[in-house]
Amino acid sequence: MQTVLEDRIAERWDRAFQRGELLYIETEVAHIKEKEIEFQIRVAPSLAKKPTGNLGVKDEEQQKSKANPFLPYSQELFVQEHGKYNVLLNKFCVVPHHLVIATKEFEKQTDPLNPEDLECIWFCIMQIKSRPVLAFFNCGELSGGSQPHKHMQIIPLPSDVRFTPPINSCIYGSQEFKKPGEIFDIPELPYVHYISLLDPQRLSLGHGRHEEVSHYLNDVFHSLLDAMIESLHKQSSLISLNSLSYNVVMTSTWLMIVPRSKEKYENMSVNSLGYAGMLLTRSKEELELVKDAGVLNILESLAFSKQNVIMDESN
Ligand code: AMP
Repeated sequence: MQTVLEDRIAERWDRAFQRGELLYIETEVAHIKEKEIEFQIRVAPSLAKKPTGNLGVKDEEQQKSKANPFLPYSQELFVQEHGKYNVLLNKFCVVPHHLVIATKEFEKQTDPLNPEDLECIWFCIMQIKSRPVLAFFNCGELSGGSQPHKHMQIIPLPSDVRFTPPINSCIYGSQEFKKPGEIFDIPELPYVHYISLLDPQRLSLGHGRHEEVSHYLNDVFHSLLDAMIESLHKQSSLISLNSLSYNVVMTSTWLMIVPRSKEKYENMSVNSLGYAGMLLTRSKEELELVKDAGVLNILESLAFSKQNVIMDESN
């Protein structure tokens, strides 16, 4: 049975789609296997003529006028409110039911996630029960994001466990068992990243426990953020949180953070989804480019190579 939130998302999405209030961009999906990860590469030729940005799409009118799409938001895309957030449908989506969670009042996208942000993400993750979902946050100029107003995003994933999301295979793959709270990285991935498994016991949303859950998630997120800053500091003391771009990816069982050094590979903008194992290309040629260069090489070139950064030995 679907939850109230799922019913609402489905109903609003169908209506907005029929009325032409959102643009659903159909894609073909190719798979590229590297290091046991089955990367999912979407090809959307209809995006080829559009300017680049997150998901390769930007509303041209909006960009021209520099209007904030979330303040005011489009009523047609409104799903529901949750505390200080509006849950909206993504106006340009390659996956139906892609959500944008935007703060009601303006807040900066460059501010790190806080307990309330994480509680809202968790609420949506928990209320979408019929399919696995992935939450993400593109923070900073080089993160592949496009909007300066604070927003997180949620996309539904295919139900096939192999793709929920692709990076799962190495998080739960051959590694020795990791305990919740332990910060670790995946040896096969050549770029700096930090992951923590979430403790299911700390996350059961019993009555009145929302605050506890939000503080728990905030602690996990900040432990990853601190580990990231510390290791990058060892490389250059000029690196500070304010100047740093990073991607955050979260599922119901883990949280990951990846610092970024560059937004684009050639013309292809990569955001948090890339680091979850899902890339978007705008033509068959771009797909060939990805195959030739190698997905992990591309992701490494847009992040911080482990070869150049001294990782904390205890992780
Ligand atoms: P980012 O590019 O990561 O900053 O995320 C912004 C998201 O908002 C993108 O996924 C866009 O497709 C989406 N978006 C752009 N304009 C609107 C709008 N008017 N209403 C809802 N979502 C939008």
